Amino acid sequence: KRNLIVFGTRPEAIKMAPLVKEFEKHSDEFDTKVCITAQHREMLDQVLSFFEIEPDYDLNLMKPNQNLYGLTADIIQNLKVVLEDFEPDYVYVHGDTTTTMATSIAAFYSGSKVCHVEAGLRTFNKKSPFPEEMNRCVTGVVSDIHFAPTQTSKENLLKENKPPKSILVTGNTVIDALHLSVSKVNAQTYDHPEISMLSQILDPSKKLVLVTGHRRENHGKGFLDICEALKELSTKYSDIQIVYPVHLNPKVQEPVYKILGDIPNIELISPLSYPSFVWLMNKSHIIITDSGGVQEEAPSLGKPVLVMRDTTERPEAVDAGTVLLVGTNKDLIVSKASKLLEDKNAYDEMTKLHNPYGDGMASKKIVEHIRKQK
Ligand code: UDP
Repeated sequence: KRNLIVFGTRPEAIKMAPLVKEFEKHSDEFDTKVCITAQHREMLDQVLSFFEIEPDYDLNLMKPNQNLYGLTADIIQNLKVVLEDFEPDYVYVHGDTTTTMATSIAAFYSGSKVCHVEAGLRTFNKKSPFPEEMNRCVTGVVSDIHFAPTQTSKENLLKENKPPKSILVTGNTVIDALHLSVSKVNAQTYDHPEISMLSQILDPSKKLVLVTGHRRENHGKGFLDICEALKELSTKYSDIQIVYPVHLNPKVQEPVYKILGDIPNIELISPLSYPSFVWLMNKSHIIITDSGGVQEEAPSLGKPVLVMRDTTERPEAVDAGTVLLVGTNKDLIVSKASKLLEDKNAYDEMTKLHNPYGDGMASKKIVEHIRKQK
C-alpha cells in the first residue's frame, strides 16, 4: 500500500511525526512518502530535524504576506503533480489548517482515499472569521477514514452522519510525539543550545509559570488583557518566574513586549524548538496558554493548564478537569492562577488527573487499521 503523509505547519508536523515513524518501521508492507507544503517554514523544519524526517516532496509554499486564496490554490495545484507522480492509495492529513483542507480536496480529485488524523473536533461555529472550523468540516466531508482522538470527536462525526465503520477512536498522536520526545530530551547526552540558555535563565528557587499565546481570536484586546493579568501575577507572587516564548506574529509581539518587557520575574524569549519546549513544559509548575496542542500534552506531564480562550474544540480536557477555561478575562486569569499557586490540594488534584487524549498508542492503532483495509 502506498501512503502519502502531508503537512504544513509546526503542530501538524509534531502530530504527524509519530505516524511517519510508525509507517517507517513497517516499510516492508507500506511504501510511505512525506510531502510538506511548508505553509510555515522555519518552525516546521526544526520539528523535522528533531524527529529525523526527510520529506520526499517539499512544496515550499510559504510566501511573504501569504493569503488564504493564493495558498489554497497553490496547495491544490502543486499537490496534483505529487499525486500524479506517486499515485498513493491513502493520503493522510491532520487537523484543521489550510494545508489539511486543500490537500484533502486534491486527494479527493485524484481518487486516493483520504485519512483524517485528529478528526471530529468541532467548535460548532463555522461563521467564525477564522478558518479552522470550516477546514475541519470540509476535510471531514471529503475523508474516507476518520481517526478521531476521543469518543466525543467520534460522536461529533456520527451526528454528521459519517458511517460508523469509517471512524476509529485512536487517542491523539500528540501524546505519541510527547513520549518519543521526553526520553530523548531528558537523556544526559542530549545537548541543545536553547536548553543551555534556559538552564541559565531559570531560577530554581521559583515556581515556573510557562506561557504561550498565538491565536488570532485573541489579537487586540485579548492580548492586552492577558498581558495585564500576567503583570499582576508577577507582582502578586515574588516566588514565581514567568517564562514566555513569544510567538513571532507582530500582533502578539507588540503588546507583549510593551507591557511585559521590563519586569524582573518575567522572561520573554523567542519561540522554542519543540524539544526545548517539551523540556520546559516538564520543568513548569503551571502552564497558561491558548494553544490546542499544549492543552493535550500538559496533562501527560502532570501539569495544570489554564486556557485563555472562551470556547474550545477540546471539551474533553475541560470535562476531565485537566484544563481550566479562563478566557482572556484578566480577573479570571489572576484568580484561577492564584488558586493553583496558593492551594496545594487543588494543585495536587489537578496533577493526578488522567489525560483524556490517550496513551501514546494512536499511531500504532492507525497503522494497524490501514493494514486491515482491503
Ligand atoms: N510548541 C513549541 N515551541 C513553542 C511553543 C509550542 O514547539 O515555543 C509546540 C507545543 O509543544 C505543541 C505545539 O507546538 O506541540 C503547539 O503549537 P501551537 O500552539 O502553535 O498550535 P496549536 O496547538 O494551537 O494548533
